[in-house]
Amino acid sequence: MIRVVHHPSYVTEAPARSTYRWGKNGAIRDLLRARGDAVTWFEPEPMPRAWLEHAHDPDYVAQVLTAAVPPEKERRIGFPITATVARRAEFVPGGTYLAARLALDHGFAANTAGGSHHALADTGAGYCIFNDLAIAALRLVEEGATPRVLIVDVDVHQGDGTAALTAGHPQIATYSIHAEKNFPVRKARSTLDVPLADGIGDEEYCTILQGTLAPLMAEWQPTLILYQGGVDPFAEDRLGRLALSAGGLERRDRLVADMAIAAGVPLASTVGGGYGDDVLAIAARHVRVIETLAAAFAGTGPGDRS
Ligand SMILES: [Zn+2]
Repeated sequence: MIRVVHHPSYVTEAPARSTYRWGKNGAIRDLLRARGDAVTWFEPEPMPRAWLEHAHDPDYVAQVLTAAVPPEKERRIGFPITATVARRAEFVPGGTYLAARLALDHGFAANTAGGSHHALADTGAGYCIFNDLAIAALRLVEEGATPRVLIVDVDVHQGDGTAALTAGHPQIATYSIHAEKNFPVRKARSTLDVPLADGIGDEEYCTILQGTLAPLMAEWQPTLILYQGGVDPFAEDRLGRLALSAGGLERRDRLVADMAIAAGVPLASTVGGGYGDDVLAIAARHVRVIETLAAAFAGTGPGDRS
């Protein structure tokens, strides 16, 4: 059984003037619905405002929630923040938080949205409004749900916002493996950054991932992994600079899941980047991530508890 967190608000109409592909979340939902009983669905609550303000500046939170984000910030985000988009932005962090809670109880769960890793304290950026990973991690450790969260970000872009919003927190560590020359130009400092040269393929990628994440896990001893499973390291991605195949993405996800399972660490996944004209193909790649992680956790320790 795959525990999947989804909310109807994830699937929104594109605001006017938007260049971002909004159909992805609906396609992900439909592909997972086609799995029938293999998927158990969970609906999140919106993230309470106090927790949004815990990671973000209250002024910026107010701008989003009243759909009054200044144009320069909207430009940085990449689309206008309408009331509908703002509502969605409250539910997505709620979804990542719920997926984490489910993972802590059962081993693995997935949010069908999220991974908004570029959102900073006082502004969104790069198609991200609120940083669901940082918000969820901060809430989880401060509620005492789990002692040590490791955010593993394999999106082709650096998790700059997540690193900035959790920097110095003694219970949260960040790992980002990304194309060095890609957005953002100015990188933040994660607990461990693994910048990659353009064009790296499956073999080299998986070797580097294993060789860098395994020691960090051994040293940090996480009790929960939040996984930003962006699919933009894919060779044909419009905004990626790496050259992973579909099989390479699967190996990547399996590698992380196996490391988590070996260490007895539950894992909650979010989606992340994935760009191009074929929305259905991109959605299928996101679903493949969820299925790969779920298959790895199926029948293992905590994942077996239902
Ligand atoms: Zn990305």
